[in-house]
Amino acid sequence: MAIRDSSPVCVIGLGQIGGSVVKAAAEAGREVFGYVRSARTFDAARAAGFTVFGELESALKHAELRRAVIVVAVPLPATGGVFARIAAFGGSCVVTDVGSVKAPILAAAEEHGLGGRFVGGHPMAGSANSGWAAADAALFHGAAWVVSVDEAVTAAGFAEVARLALGLGAVVVPALAAEHDRAVARISHLPHLLAAVLANTGAAGGELALGLAAGSFRDGTRVAGSDPALAEAMCANNTAAVIEALDEALDALNAARTKLGLTGLPGPVVRSGRESRAAYDRI
Ligand code: NAD
Repeated sequence: MAIRDSSPVCVIGLGQIGGSVVKAAAEAGREVFGYVRSARTFDAARAAGFTVFGELESALKHAELRRAVIVVAVPLPATGGVFARIAAFGGSCVVTDVGSVKAPILAAAEEHGLGGRFVGGHPMAGSANSGWAAADAALFHGAAWVVSVDEAVTAAGFAEVARLALGLGAVVVPALAAEHDRAVARISHLPHLLAAVLANTGAAGGELALGLAAGSFRDGTRVAGSDPALAEAMCANNTAAVIEALDEALDALNAARTKLGLTGLPGPVVRSGRESRAAYDRI
């Protein structure tokens, strides 16, 4: 598998992440094209001057002709189906993905026979928005981009994907799928769960609570604004690691609750006289 300085890039799915890869690759001077399923995104990408195909097989054919690296950037539940179609099409281009979990994606790549062509990837960048309109050429600047070093990964495949990530401004972090999944459970999946809990707890406080909400509430709940399907798919595909992180967080919250209960001020009720206490109760 020969590696060139800057292979063309074929992106499957031009949402926030795939669209950002397309825009960033174009800005970096790389040949880039993609497969788009939705008519609206197809028109928007074409209008912005990008080469896009409305048929997956046409994009894959072009990828083979151009010896491109293929980046699968569809939602997690759709990834296995796209792998199956790439495997059925055949070819020899390196295939990578951008999914937020790695072990199930690696298993799907193996199941569909992508084998040594597949190198998992995960750029640690994104916002709460989705779709082509949310794509940003600068999204990956300075961001970590995990590149899989699992057993099936070849040196050539790793180098191809690492070169892509570096070319888009990211920093490459080699990681095994299982270790990646345990780490992101703590720094991404659990924060999504906690943000949703904080948002719901705040909303339950009614109009006044929401009216007073300022910086700390906004910062703590930012990712709760993401498409809930994204967080659900991440957690559902990483249950063991998310449960482990969640249990630790619950233990820490319970410990904090106990500590607050022990060190909290004893209310005035305890020390007041009878009349004062009655007055206090009336207030
Ligand atoms: P998105 O909803 O913005 O984009 C997904 C795109 O895939 C859409 O354009 C959709 O039309 C298209 N699509 C869906 N099914 C398809 C199919 N079968 N064939 C072709 N296209 C299809 O989502 P996103 O945020 O770009 O997420 C894409 C991937 O990136 C996910 O796997 C996610 O785990 C990963 N990721 C997301 C973030 C983030 O913060 N949003 C960060 C890192 C990685």
